[in-house]
Amino acid sequence: MIIQLEKNISEEQKSNIVNKINEAGYKSNFVSTQYCDYIIGVGNKDFDIRAIGVLPGVKDIHIVLEASKLVSKKWKTQDTVIDLGDDVKIGGGNFQIMAGPCSIESEKQIEITVAHLLKNNIKIMRGGVYKPRSSPYAFRGLGLKGLKIFYKYCKAAGIKIITEVMMPEQIDGMYEYVDIFQVGARNSQNFNLLDALGKQDKPVMLKRGISGTLDELLASAEYIFSNGNEDILLCERGIRTYEKSYRNTFDINSIPVLKDKSHLPVIIDSSHGVGIRKFVEPVALAGVIAGGDAVITEVHETPQKAFSDGAQTLSHDEAEIYYKNVRKTFEFRKTLYRY
Ligand code: PEP
Ligand code: MN
Repeated sequence: MIIQLEKNISEEQKSNIVNKINEAGYKSNFVSTQYCDYIIGVGNKDFDIRAIGVLPGVKDIHIVLEASKLVSKKWKTQDTVIDLGDDVKIGGGNFQIMAGPCSIESEKQIEITVAHLLKNNIKIMRGGVYKPRSSPYAFRGLGLKGLKIFYKYCKAAGIKIITEVMMPEQIDGMYEYVDIFQVGARNSQNFNLLDALGKQDKPVMLKRGISGTLDELLASAEYIFSNGNEDILLCERGIRTYEKSYRNTFDINSIPVLKDKSHLPVIIDSSHGVGIRKFVEPVALAGVIAGGDAVITEVHETPQKAFSDGAQTLSHDEAEIYYKNVRKTFEFRKTLYRY
């Protein structure tokens, strides 16, 4: 059960509602986000919600039986729109392309990438400065120093930044320079990190775990929301299966299914999803048709020299064609259906 509270509710009215919920055999959890206050009732007894609906201070009430409630479409039927400012929005019919290298490598690279994004009218740049790597000997990223240079160029160009945060301790230092915090696949169930990001007022893109189910992804998103942050994006980046012909299996099914289960935008990462350069475009286009709200794609001026994930990275020349096809496909999708 989700009870949305009126803005000016008194403490007395609040405890009155909580008492009624407890009497009905439900446990209550208070959630306060950047937009609204809620009480989440957890239980499964049948009872008449009108008894609570009429109480002073209640704006709206819904029964949501799903384990993940606040991120569920049962509760909020309208799509969430992530507004990054300067008219850069994701979700609810607003489509974006996010592109950039796997890792931020140098000032020169940032400069070249920003020029490439500007030329192609792309408003969001990706690039990791804290890199989760399978081997401890691989490049681990330029850290906060790299992020500050990343920010300097993007700020001047009016481009937004999405970059991965790996630990709660990194959040404060990064905050000023980040438009979207990315949670990587390996941290998809790092509940301490999710709790900490839930206390921020900046959007979080949550990637699906390497072997994560959709319900686990939604439960992780619920951690962020229930800690106070409603601005969440879900990202399909492929899962590990028995198939060895490509790096990961991009689960196309997840896109319409997530869009059906949740009001949150769904992001297509076909770079990690397939892991092979020449398939990044067809898989992304399929994701666009399936209902994705944005693509996030690895691009590099010389992918062969990339410090990480070069084999799945598009060159800037390849990317120019790719962006056109992604945009064309999105326009085409609008002619197809009602999602
Ligand atoms: C990345 O975006 O470069 C990355 C490390 O992705 P994932 O967490 O999906 O592996
Ligand atoms: Mn990568």
